[in-house]
Amino acid sequence: MITSPTWRGKRFAVLGLARSGAAVVRALVASGAEVVAWDSDEAARDALFSAREGRGEGQPQALSPSTAPLPTLSPEERGLLSFADPENIDLAGFDGLVVSPGVPINRHPVAAKARAAGVPVIGDIELFAQARASLPPHKVVGITGTNGKSTTTALIHHILETAGVPARLGGNIGKPILGEEPLPDGGVYVLELSSYQIDLTTSLDCDVAILLNITPDHLDRYDGFEGYAASKARLFAIQSPDHAAIIGIADAASARIARSLSARGEHLTKIAPGTCMDQSRWPSLQGPHNAQNALAAIDACKALGVDDAVIDRGLESFSGLPHRMELVVSRDGVAFVNDSKATNPESTAPALAAFSRIHWIVGGQAKTDDLDACAPWFGHVARAYTIGEAGPRFAAILTPHMSVEESGTLAQAVKSAAANARPGDTVLLSPACASFDQFRDFEDRGDRFRTLVGGLA
Ligand code: ADP
Repeated sequence: MITSPTWRGKRFAVLGLARSGAAVVRALVASGAEVVAWDSDEAARDALFSAREGRGEGQPQALSPSTAPLPTLSPEERGLLSFADPENIDLAGFDGLVVSPGVPINRHPVAAKARAAGVPVIGDIELFAQARASLPPHKVVGITGTNGKSTTTALIHHILETAGVPARLGGNIGKPILGEEPLPDGGVYVLELSSYQIDLTTSLDCDVAILLNITPDHLDRYDGFEGYAASKARLFAIQSPDHAAIIGIADAASARIARSLSARGEHLTKIAPGTCMDQSRWPSLQGPHNAQNALAAIDACKALGVDDAVIDRGLESFSGLPHRMELVVSRDGVAFVNDSKATNPESTAPALAAFSRIHWIVGGQAKTDDLDACAPWFGHVARAYTIGEAGPRFAAILTPHMSVEESGTLAQAVKSAAANARPGDTVLLSPACASFDQFRDFEDRGDRFRTLVGGLA
């Protein structure tokens, strides 16, 4: 666990006790801070005590990472922890209100209340930033962007491991960062940062900060696109100007941010669109979008002093992430590809670009009214199978351009697509939509696709 003497004697309110919130509470009380914690789910509150205290030493530990065992709270730590909804208490005098990134701070009343009381609204990444001074000497890489964050984060982490550098994934990916053991001297924390996490961070000075791209997404949480872009720009505003900034400049908003940092000179690296690279030796980094991700990772690892030959080896041996253009199986010459993570048209476009005759399963909870970002690749689609809430609208958009079946459900879509596909075709789940209308999350959707494909006669 990451602790810090800077929190001793301070007072924090913590709202949201899922994985990262629970790790925050433990790190704070272990550091001697007083914590008032809250989650509307009683089970999440109880879990801070009971799940761990019920288990004596030597008993089997929970296997799921979400219930990974943490040390039992000591009596002193318990004494520092109380429960109350921060909406119902006087926040004056608190040193911070720690919220999970899922709390919409643009409209949640508790955020306004904290601000009125002069209490900073922060997240676990900000606490990590505060704890850095007491960690062994290390570096931090922060990666943001609308699409490609996880891939680039995992790739950088993989290259560092290939180089024998102690490295840890964190932020929007992997386990809560404060629950992890500190890295030894010379370690690198590789943090995937959503804009929500950046909004909750005021002092994270990344040694290397990466912005991949900015396209419309999550606009319910911001005052329009400009507000969303401004959130990404903050990662650089809070960074020392002599630390490395790496920015993809394929879209106007990112290019604008890069221009605003031009005074950084050699410390700013711009990734231009369409840079030609030989990706043939990188099986899990195909497509133009992955060229961008790979370039960002190469530049980041160079900035960290990793040798070119080791970077090469890392790119070659990277195995990719599940649900991102993941080849599930090749059956009778038909490839079944799970790209469930593509939750907006911009992230679906590269998948459509990557294959030539596609049976495209698309739809879910739409984030945009159109599929314009995918339009250049409509010619690659043999047939579209629409599912979910957006199904009827997408069918209307696509019908003038291609053959469309309104499948409704993923099960029907997989069945029809498999029946229609010929050898050489690709059945692609790349929904360009969020999953919440029919699934728990994009992972659930991708797992279901895998199961359905596995069950095909
Ligand atoms: P994130 O963590 O930002 O959501 P992922 O690496 O999980 O990004 O990729 C999400 C989706 O976006 C994948 O479906 C992938 O095809 C697409 N994608 C990945 N990298 C990029 C990129 N650099 N530009 C555009 N789309 C991308």
